[in-house]
Amino acid sequence: MSALSQNPSTEETPPTRILKVAFVLSEVDPLAKVGGLGDVGGALPAALARIPPEQLGGARLDIRLILPFHVPLKEKLKTAKPVVSFQVPTTGRPVKAHVFETILDGLPVYLIDGAPVSKLPDIYGNDPLQMAEKFTFFSLAALHLIKKINWEINVLHAHDWHSALSLYGMETLFQKDPAFRNVLKILSIHNLPFLGEKSSQILQQYLLPPADGEILSEWARLLPLPLGMLVADRIIAVSPTYAQEILTPEFSSGLEEFLRTRSNHITGILNGIDIERWNPASDALIPHLFSSDNLAPRSQNRQSLLEEFGLSRQVGIPLLTFIGRLDYQKGMDLLLKALPRLAQHPWQFILLGAGNPDLEQACRVLEERFPSRVRAVLRYDAQLARRLYAGADMLLMPSRYEPCGLAQMIAMRYGCIPIARATGGLKDTIQDTRLSAGTGFLFKKASSAALSAAMTAALQYFKDQTAWEALQYRCMKQDFSWEKSALEYAKIYLNDKGGTER
Ligand code: ADP
Repeated sequence: MSALSQNPSTEETPPTRILKVAFVLSEVDPLAKVGGLGDVGGALPAALARIPPEQLGGARLDIRLILPFHVPLKEKLKTAKPVVSFQVPTTGRPVKAHVFETILDGLPVYLIDGAPVSKLPDIYGNDPLQMAEKFTFFSLAALHLIKKINWEINVLHAHDWHSALSLYGMETLFQKDPAFRNVLKILSIHNLPFLGEKSSQILQQYLLPPADGEILSEWARLLPLPLGMLVADRIIAVSPTYAQEILTPEFSSGLEEFLRTRSNHITGILNGIDIERWNPASDALIPHLFSSDNLAPRSQNRQSLLEEFGLSRQVGIPLLTFIGRLDYQKGMDLLLKALPRLAQHPWQFILLGAGNPDLEQACRVLEERFPSRVRAVLRYDAQLARRLYAGADMLLMPSRYEPCGLAQMIAMRYGCIPIARATGGLKDTIQDTRLSAGTGFLFKKASSAALSAAMTAALQYFKDQTAWEALQYRCMKQDFSWEKSALEYAKIYLNDKGGTER
């Protein structure tokens, strides 16, 4: 049996090999998005499918996505077509799974439903047990689905802990199953510290055995992400710097020894952004369109924002923004300490974020302390995010760690200059302006003092508007499109064993 379909060949046209890839994950923009994972799910599969066979030695990728049928999605996708139903075995009663199908950007998306998915009102929840059940069920149901529809995949590409167990399930529960013989197992790491905590009981309930041997420390032998990393043929961190960082004690979440044993399998590939979806020259959700060659309308976007939020519209005051999850990872606490230190400088600040209740409260306090300069918008608002990228002068990203980070790339594409900690993908995508042809302001230490110093440098730089516009121009000319990264992924699919006949 060959899983690589062959088109009828003629002497002139070599046969097209079709490599079948199951892309299994929890977020796909615009269907379901909480953060950068959703952006990747929404853009990378289509970019992979677009790669011309000439660039892949004559091969073509047949990519389909597998996503939980999250409760908020059901409203949006009432017409999704039922595909198949089956049961997922457990130590108790088997759990029923119902799979639906929709199409996104021309690619099939399978949506897995069942009690563990419909129990959770949102994409994610706060109860680790419910989360573990939803994503263990989802990961295993993905394997049953692949078998049920006789889809002879060559590659299973999982993302983060939510789908890591589809790799481990393949290696254990389906070890001898011909449907999965020689399937290449790829795991992308978008955020290492989310290991899938407190799920050991659920894993056992779904018949998954703990890892044997000593490679994994005992505490990690029944945790989804470490198990996925244990069996993956390739572990792909979402930036080259993060691929290095996860091998160090500071970033490895206690897994550095284990990860070092796997270091030959770890690669870093930088995420891209969808440059069509994120384009200030055609973005229907921003009031004034602009481009690198026509920056002038941009300042009107800033004025509209100031008006919308009741801030003074005085010209020459830089507008700062933060757009992101309110989590200690993102360093908002550092920013909350840095801003008051810079009170003698002119600036205005609109922050958009939701998450940790203590941080949300601290943001409210900052707004109360600076009522004429600060607005804290504590929600998820995709439209406002676009207006902020298009109108603010500087984006603050003082992340403690940042596997890749998309906000800084989007900001640069919209001429909003990043001030960021030199870590992970931030380091890989931003050049400090103190170097020639820089694109932003970087600082090393995760401290409010280091952040304030970088902000002071940026505020100073802003005073020279000619230099600032040149900086904006350089940012907007950066190529963050998915094409290059998608090709790197595709080469891994092809060159590793998934690219060979099964
Ligand atoms: P992460 O994946 O860690 O959340 P990224 O920078 O990689 O961070 O991606 C964040 C994405 O989510 C960006 O597209 C950003 O614009 C968006 N985003 C984050 N928080 C919000 C929010 N409160 N409202 C709108 N968009 C948001």
